[in-house]
Amino acid sequence: MPTSLADAVVVGAGPYGLSAAAHLRGAGLDCRIIGTPMHFWNHHMPAGMFLKSEPFASSLSSPADGTSFLDYRPGWRAGRPIPVDTFASYGEWFTREAGLPAEPATVTSVERADGRFEVALETGETISTPNVVLGIGMGVFADLPAELRHLPGALCGHSSEYRDLSVFKGARVAVVGAGQSALETAVLLAEQGAEPVLITRTPALKWNAAPSDGSSPAARLLRGPQSGLGRGYRTWVWSERPEMTRLLPDRVRARIVRNTLGPAGAWWLRDRFATGIAVRTGQRLSGADATGDRVTLTTADRSGDLRVLTVDHVLAATGFTPDVDRVQILSPEIRREIARTGRSPKLDSAFGSSVPGLYFTGLAAAASFGPVMRFVHGADFCARRIARRLGQDRR
Ligand SMILES: Cc1cc2nc3c(=O)[nH]c(=O)nc-3n(C[C@H](O)[C@H](O)[C@H](O)COP(=O)(O)OP(=O)(O)OC[C@H]3O[C@@H](n4cnc5c(N)ncnc54)[C@H](O)[C@@H]3O)c2cc1C
Repeated sequence: MPTSLADAVVVGAGPYGLSAAAHLRGAGLDCRIIGTPMHFWNHHMPAGMFLKSEPFASSLSSPADGTSFLDYRPGWRAGRPIPVDTFASYGEWFTREAGLPAEPATVTSVERADGRFEVALETGETISTPNVVLGIGMGVFADLPAELRHLPGALCGHSSEYRDLSVFKGARVAVVGAGQSALETAVLLAEQGAEPVLITRTPALKWNAAPSDGSSPAARLLRGPQSGLGRGYRTWVWSERPEMTRLLPDRVRARIVRNTLGPAGAWWLRDRFATGIAVRTGQRLSGADATGDRVTLTTADRSGDLRVLTVDHVLAATGFTPDVDRVQILSPEIRREIARTGRSPKLDSAFGSSVPGLYFTGLAAAASFGPVMRFVHGADFCARRIARRLGQDRR
């Protein structure tokens, strides 16, 4: 198929890719967006899951009014969790409302040629463009603990590989992790007739408090303003002023990204968690052996005492770690050229990497712009910054 031309190519059609494409097209760029809208949300999150973020912090961004989550579902009150299917449908609705011609294809490689990029699609087409915006999300950064990597896929996987947990009905499933994803997966498994065993490194489970407006004005002042990431003065800065977070020393920002909104369950999950889930806290995985169609896990506590557990399946809800070297669609030459902070790309004030014309969004941008980039709430800032830069370049 012949090579075509575009001002920009956005790779991936999740909240960040769709928002970036809406703003780029709004800035007058001829922008292609490659990816199936909300594919990760429709296929790599468990059915029955709810969002942890509040409705006002769960919007995609476009330059036009009328495309927020609350425009899609007016009257959805704070504190009422959004089902994953509703959010995925919202993203698809946004795509139509914003008039985005998302192309349900996969980008197979991005290479450099004559100062431009050649973006190859699985369809055989190649697009030549000066700008590539990576909206590839988190899936490629899924973290499976080293102790589990040798297990066959039929017995073990990362949480992002599961959609339908009802297939585990009657099975004993070890869920590894202490964050919302692990806690909610354990609840969904129990509710669907499986026998989950939650294994956490942390010595105790943590739960977020329910939002409350009942406190006095003085108490509210002390707790600080509400923001997309929650309540508090510092939280407000990380949430609403990512351009300031970017100016902090790398080491400080890395600590903020690590510690802000650490592993904890949503308040509304706590009652559902109460029954039917065995919990082993303070346990580090130290070994895993497949024997027949079961797995024997060995865990160790802080004093080194070992415990053994045999299960039918191991599900690792162990999160995502951005790493430039895992973005395999980028040619090795491009990956080598990308300046980094830790294993993430080091980005300028418009999300540009050290490779001119190559932009990163979402989780890959968290090391530069802070924790808000791990959440949908960061998409508005990110999309506007990229569109402003490329709009200026075009003019
Ligand atoms: C279980 C779970 C629950 C979460 N809950 C919340 C929540 O409540 N609130 C919140 O704000 N955040 C939540 N998050 C984080 C959330 O996933 C991100 O905030 C959001 O999805 C980031 O959007 P994105 O566009 O960067 O990534 P994604 O939504 O992952 O979209 C990226 C898209 O790019 C596509 N893609 C990747 N590679 C290619 C390629 N080569 N070619 C074409 N397409 C490609 C993928 O298929 C995917 O559809 C949750 C995450 C998980 C895992």
